[in-house]
Amino acid sequence: MSARDSSEAGWGIRTTAVHAGIDRAARVDPIGPSIVPSVNFAAEWNQIGASAAGTDEQVSFVYAREGHPNATQLEQRLAALEGAEDAAAFASGMAAISGVLGMLLAPGDHLVISDVVYAGTAEYVKGPLARTGVSYTVADMADLADVTRSLRTSTRVIYAETPCNPIIKLADVRALASIAHDAGAELIVDSTFSTPIISKPLELGADYVVHSLTKYIGGHGDALGGAVLGAAEPIRRLRREIGTHLGATLSPFNAWLIMRGIETLPIRVKAHSESAQTLASYLASHPAVSRVIYPGLRSHPQFELAREQMAMFGGMLACSVRNTRTFGDGLASTLRLIRVAASLGATRSVILYCDTADLQRMTFQLDEEHLRRYRTWAGDGVFRVSVGLEDAEDLCDDFARALEVAA
Ligand SMILES: *Cc1c(COP(=O)(O)O)cnc(C)c1O
Repeated sequence: MSARDSSEAGWGIRTTAVHAGIDRAARVDPIGPSIVPSVNFAAEWNQIGASAAGTDEQVSFVYAREGHPNATQLEQRLAALEGAEDAAAFASGMAAISGVLGMLLAPGDHLVISDVVYAGTAEYVKGPLARTGVSYTVADMADLADVTRSLRTSTRVIYAETPCNPIIKLADVRALASIAHDAGAELIVDSTFSTPIISKPLELGADYVVHSLTKYIGGHGDALGGAVLGAAEPIRRLRREIGTHLGATLSPFNAWLIMRGIETLPIRVKAHSESAQTLASYLASHPAVSRVIYPGLRSHPQFELAREQMAMFGGMLACSVRNTRTFGDGLASTLRLIRVAASLGATRSVILYCDTADLQRMTFQLDEEHLRRYRTWAGDGVFRVSVGLEDAEDLCDDFARALEVAA
């Protein structure tokens, strides 16, 4: 069943999450997906040459690096959820991100990228991508004039994250898409923090959406994966370049795990959002907390945009406390549920301190003006919290214990 079929079936998002991507006409018909670990698939005598020549209308599988049943099921389910013509799944979010940037940008081209992005993305852009002769300018995606100022005649891509990692600043996808298209460029949106349950950037005009499937979409913190979604032709090309040629293919087992995770995505994102709203309000009222950044709070500078662009406000929040060091030093001994750890979007709550100076060293070393803007949001640093699926009251209690020490 193609992505188009499932949306034409008029299914709701929960039905799509559970049924899209399963081919009922397949010869074997278990009602749940099975893992197909085989690297080789029986082929027609003249099929292998045709696939190597790139004729690419291959509907059957030959060799797993080029495609396998578990990846195809996952890709079709993702495309159905996002309302995309097609999706390509890869070994990690970074494979998806480096893959799509590498495919769209050639030596001499220019990229306008958000001043705040996932650290791995910034490292890739200023290292390997820049070495290929691609130049870039960082811009504040929340300030459209700054984005427009950053454009050059050679700009081919605008790249944004919303909400962005780690300071939960939003980007207005519709406005950025129109700026990009007026400049003859394309817009890529990293929608990892939103998932298609919260927003669908392609419907707002973006050309590509990328996800780290490792986070909410897989949802259990047990499988790395990534995906790029967009129009059929470039996604097919991307699957060849990043899967077939670079070899960053998603494994059948991880594809299967992520496929299973997706079935609860709509209800998980709802639960993450509700608990994050409760925790954000609790923290905002706590005297030891100096700032809370959460799109569902009226105090978020882009609350209006959040209401317009997001169906829910998500499970990610950032906060600062009055006494960072005492609070930080006490976390490991005071918290009983929330763990101090990287990554996000899984069932278990985690907290991570993002020090402004450290992050600048790792990422874009912002100029004075952009650093000033960053500090307006995040000061010397923020604690980034991925709110899990525990009871919100228990999470508030856990924070209460940790904040008592810091008061
Ligand atoms: C984690 C993350 C990535 C990278 O994904 P991996 O699956 O770890 O490679 C990219 N973007 C965002 C916003 C992320 O949080």
